[in-house]
Amino acid sequence: MSLKERITGLIAAQGPIGVAQFMTIALHDPDFGYYSTRDPFGLPKEGTLGGDFITAPEISQMFGEMLGLWVAMAWIEQGRPQHPMLVELGPGRGTLMRDMLRALKAAPDFLKGLEVAMVEASPHLRGLQQDALKDAGPRVTWQSQFDPPAGRPVFVVANEFFDALPIRQYVKTARGWCERMVTAKNGELTFALAPAPAPSALIPEAYAAAPDGGVYETAPAGIALAEDIARQVAKNGGAALLIDYGYGSPDSKGAGFGETLQAVGAHRFADVLAAPGTHDLSAHVDFAALAAAGKRGGAGVHGPITQGHFLTALGIGARAQSLAAKNPGSEASLTAALERLTGPAAMGSLFKALAFLPGMAATAPGFEEMRHETA
Ligand code: SAH
Repeated sequence: MSLKERITGLIAAQGPIGVAQFMTIALHDPDFGYYSTRDPFGLPKEGTLGGDFITAPEISQMFGEMLGLWVAMAWIEQGRPQHPMLVELGPGRGTLMRDMLRALKAAPDFLKGLEVAMVEASPHLRGLQQDALKDAGPRVTWQSQFDPPAGRPVFVVANEFFDALPIRQYVKTARGWCERMVTAKNGELTFALAPAPAPSALIPEAYAAAPDGGVYETAPAGIALAEDIARQVAKNGGAALLIDYGYGSPDSKGAGFGETLQAVGAHRFADVLAAPGTHDLSAHVDFAALAAAGKRGGAGVHGPITQGHFLTALGIGARAQSLAAKNPGSEASLTAALERLTGPAAMGSLFKALAFLPGMAATAPGFEEMRHETA
């Protein structure tokens, strides 16, 4: 039995499924789901890349250090509230949290009352995270959903998490916007459109100009989660930092009105439907939708700004220099990592940072100069 057979059987029994349900099964099926069964992250080994893709914290420790610094600054600006929670969504191998906690040693009072919560769906990745954090210091717990205890300031960090949340797609046709579905023909999975159009209220104004065949993508679970995070931050204090690849408006969406669902395996694009469970699925994050959700939740919303601007404003260049000075011979690899994280041709422009703060905060660290950019 393969996951494709399992999905084909489901479609035979209940009819075509939406793209969101397909993504959820492909990523999280307990037996065959991509995240349930593997360690996707590639590290260079003997000149080759292992794994399927590489993320910012796996490129360099500097990424996590900058995020740890960001959390410390937000905490200090709020008057050092006691007993903070630090929550990471989708922590992968645990590298980012490990690097953040190391950098946070510079703020010992933050660490003193700290509790860490890791929101992770995959039992396999939870195991790797436990190993990475076994000497962490603060108490660490694992949860399958974002559910922080009431009344404690909550600092939330998510890197490449929202891109993995399930999306729905609607395609513009002569008869209206129809949901894109996954169906099965002769044992193979294919896309098809729902026969009846979706209610037009589902489609934002900005998409009115889309041509026939244009696609509107939305991530309802991600939007609801962003609103919940903003509400907790606004109510209890704290801050949230969401970093991902994505766009601020359809105009700046690289794909225009196209679709962005993609499958990646072994550092290459793959067919989305051919072999579910064997490669990663993700979609560009709609930062305008997350920012709007943050405002509905009552938080002050900062950004999105590009990852390049954000890390540079926090001083990643100086950090690279000081690491190079301390570690003779490491300068070339640090320069390369810096370029990958901040360079416009690498992750620097495609990746964006968005912050939620309690409404009263005037600025967010790293966002000060860029507050009006809507990249
Ligand atoms: N933040 C890490 C990993 C990014 S990959 C890094 O930057 O390296 C996405 C992560 O989110 C994985 O850990 C995956 O298992 C987790 N994940 C995906 N969907 C999830 C969900 N619905 N609930 C909880 N965790 C999820």
